[in-house]
Amino acid sequence: MNGHNSRQMRVLHVSPEFAPFSKVGGLADVVGSLPPALRSQGVDCRVYTPAWKGVLDYVRDKGYPLTRLSRKAEMVFRWNILRGTVWKSCSEGVPVYFLDLPSLFGTETIYPRNLTPDTVLPFLFLSLSALDLPEASRWRPDIFHCHDWGTAPLSAALAWHHHYRYQSERYRTVFTIHNLAHQGLLPLDSLREWGLADDAGRIDSMEFFSYGNLLKGALLASSAITTVSPTYAREIQTRGGGEGLGGVLSALGPKVTGILNGLDVNYWNPAADPLLPARYSREDMAGKALCRKELFSRAGWEEDNHPLFVSVGRMAEQKGFSLLLPALEEISQKNWRIFFLGTGEPEYEKGLEEAARRWPGSVHSVIGYDEPLAHLAYAGGDFFLMPSRFEPCGLSQLIALRYGTVPVVRSTGGLADTVRPFPEEGGNGITFSVYTPEALLSAMDEAAGLFTEQKAEYTELQKKGMGQDFSWDASAPLYKELYVSILRKGN
Ligand code: ADP
Repeated sequence: MNGHNSRQMRVLHVSPEFAPFSKVGGLADVVGSLPPALRSQGVDCRVYTPAWKGVLDYVRDKGYPLTRLSRKAEMVFRWNILRGTVWKSCSEGVPVYFLDLPSLFGTETIYPRNLTPDTVLPFLFLSLSALDLPEASRWRPDIFHCHDWGTAPLSAALAWHHHYRYQSERYRTVFTIHNLAHQGLLPLDSLREWGLADDAGRIDSMEFFSYGNLLKGALLASSAITTVSPTYAREIQTRGGGEGLGGVLSALGPKVTGILNGLDVNYWNPAADPLLPARYSREDMAGKALCRKELFSRAGWEEDNHPLFVSVGRMAEQKGFSLLLPALEEISQKNWRIFFLGTGEPEYEKGLEEAARRWPGSVHSVIGYDEPLAHLAYAGGDFFLMPSRFEPCGLSQLIALRYGTVPVVRSTGGLADTVRPFPEEGGNGITFSVYTPEALLSAMDEAAGLFTEQKAEYTELQKKGMGQDFSWDASAPLYKELYVSILRKGN
């Protein structure tokens, strides 16, 4: 690794999601906002990501620059050659390469319901062709920074791929775990199909209970592993929180770091948010009341002074829906309202729709992905509910804090690192620990009591959250330090 001291460090972020172009969850937001923050720290960061269906149209419609690299991205798979076009663009000052092959990336949903040797192909192509990008773009990164299981084949290829392993000395790799629950499991013998040597399938490499585990491969092969909060970094190194990889991660402990996610505070800004019916700030909250009114009317409710809880996000076990659903009957007997926006597991979507039919005066549920409505919910709510079973970092609670919507969360992972219980010193929300509907309900009771009986304290709590700094200013330098340290170590 010579020469990086005399010039800018170069880092290529490889990611299946990239906001605002493609998004399933928080990963997109992070890859959309971390590289610009690192560029302002003097790191030459770029992004390599698929042109999923509609992405290039969006790029053109919004007037971003777009040029085609003369060289195609190629990969041999089952005796066929896949050939993709690489488009270069620029977003927020960050050069972006979009990998385009409609037969692979022609979906908007990004992740397949079932991972198979066929449905993994878009992710393999993204990961392996990233290693050829230096030649095609004539820009050679020092570090490949990969995000989640979909880009795990990149580090695995540098360790075990017949063709790419010879390049392993040339590059360092950082692998960020945004969610350990998704690991990318494939039949073990399918690893050979895309060029991995047999030793990739050993128990001390990618073998995992008779499967091939992409994420495990990346953990073992990467120069450094990060995850998105300090508490989650500790939790995943245990048997209980390690999703089967606790032992591996604890053995790799010295190369695991937790770095808290930041937020794109220009985009998530109630004082300048074009998607809100009214804007507001810590100093002038009048606009928030208008957003609240609008949210009530969207739900078909008469506005009143009882608390409104909102929930925006994936309707998944992880997010605590197995607590929320059994709690709804009791919630319906109070004077509270609860507004849901999200998509996810069919059982939860159905359960929420049923609850909304049964108790229309207290439960409202919108199933779908809706960016403007999400903004309205963050702004219009009194409390933001996030009773997660586990939470790597969580961006939603940070957005809620910034929008003056007091978070009610289960203290786990990144939620424990960002939401401190009121009335403790530094408290900015309401928290509970035990994963039961009763504990959730008692936290909601506490919230409701605060809202109706202690208005001054409630307002103070809102303002405290709105005044906190959730930008990348604290965390981007930590990534930069990590890059410097792995380049210096040369391992
Ligand atoms: P995840 O585990 O899904 O990544 P995060 O809290 O880290 O959870 O980030 C979720 C991001 O996705 C937030 O920006 C949130 O507002 C957004 N989001 C999730 N579901 C929806 C939806 N149905 N409509 C609009 N935005 C959504």
